[in-house]
Amino acid sequence: MYWRTRFGAAPPPRGKTHVAGINFKGDRRPAMLIGGDNSNGAKAFSLYLHIPYCQSKCPYCDFNSHAAASWPEDDYVRALVAEIERRASEAPWAGRPLKTIFFGGGTPSLFQPESIAAIVAAAARNFGIETGAEVTLEANPGTVDAAKLGGMRAAGVNRISFGAQSFNEARLKFLGRIHSVGETREAARIAHRAGFERLNLDLIFAVPGQSVDEVLNDIAQAAALGPDHISAYNLTFEEGTAFFTEMKRGQIRPLDSDRQAEFYAAVREELPRRGYRMYEISNYAPPGHEARHNLSYWRAESYLGLGAGAHSFARGEGGGSGRRWWNERVPVRYVERALAGGLAEAGGETVKADGARGEFVFLNLRLREGFALADFETRFGASFDSVFGARAARLFEGELLVRDEGRIYLSERGLELADSVFAEFI
Ligand code: SF4
Repeated sequence: MYWRTRFGAAPPPRGKTHVAGINFKGDRRPAMLIGGDNSNGAKAFSLYLHIPYCQSKCPYCDFNSHAAASWPEDDYVRALVAEIERRASEAPWAGRPLKTIFFGGGTPSLFQPESIAAIVAAAARNFGIETGAEVTLEANPGTVDAAKLGGMRAAGVNRISFGAQSFNEARLKFLGRIHSVGETREAARIAHRAGFERLNLDLIFAVPGQSVDEVLNDIAQAAALGPDHISAYNLTFEEGTAFFTEMKRGQIRPLDSDRQAEFYAAVREELPRRGYRMYEISNYAPPGHEARHNLSYWRAESYLGLGAGAHSFARGEGGGSGRRWWNERVPVRYVERALAGGLAEAGGETVKADGARGEFVFLNLRLREGFALADFETRFGASFDSVFGARAARLFEGELLVRDEGRIYLSERGLELADSVFAEFI
């Protein structure tokens, strides 16, 4: 129902994004976010690195992740470094430093800190890393200890994102997670002790059998661990997953959409009450603590994705078009190809100007602040009204979109019907 956006690992969302309203305690106008830019040039960009191995495959997971008892860590690191070296010598990345790095997966915390350090060092050597850059590592609470997290911090990682998912043992078991509630608590504690001031916890809600009170309890338990960011996703049943098969066989029944909306309403009310402002459909943080890496995606900026199955997007000159491409998905084939010449592309497509304009709009509309009309015009050399006038007029009339002080964003009703709004721009 609500998209988990890991664009480096997957293409931009093109469909379901139904969301319900948000309560800003009476403030109906979204606050502005930090960082990022919507202009082009020799600018810093975001780097995504995909580590595809997991200890076991969670039944709801449709990411490019593979259960493995062991993995070719040295070869995989060498493949990533070969890709870094190759891409750093080519347009449009040559001469541009990194503003964010994101290790996603899979379970990047399965790798040794020395491996992560080698990759960060290669990125620094080849691209340069801006002072104050955000360097995030996704981690499974069941795969870390003090030595590992201390090593990750020393490697240059300054933000950890734990897949906590739930604070109910039965629910964790149902979700196929390898970790326990106690391990989540311990992982958060040692992350703080290791010096990570920036800590995200992922939660999953609308799990069959779950109650709204249980989700509120999950939020309370998560907040008690002092993260500066919480992502809350509703459980989805994606084709190709074990849960999807079980759903088709009638062995598992997703909550109906009204019930899911009820959960989402509770989540978006509870998190802001605890100081985590909703700044994107599924993401919450106090002002200034937003995930800068993900903001790059939602602002439709260029990003480079390396590793098995990783996706990249490069805006074209003038910003009106671009190119998207993706790597070989199968880890062993990815490693072979990357080691052979530093490239592992499996496909790509040109994003034409009209597609780029639509993507810009629906990605930015995921953010509560939406986008500035002036940014649209600077980027595409045409006004928003001249491109989307008729379609947008219907949305303004239907009170799904708001135009306010030079910005456009979803109204509360628009949030409830976000799928249909986005469909107008795809
Ligand atoms: S740990 Fe994360 S990436 Fe790995 S299978 Fe589970 S949900 Fe997917």
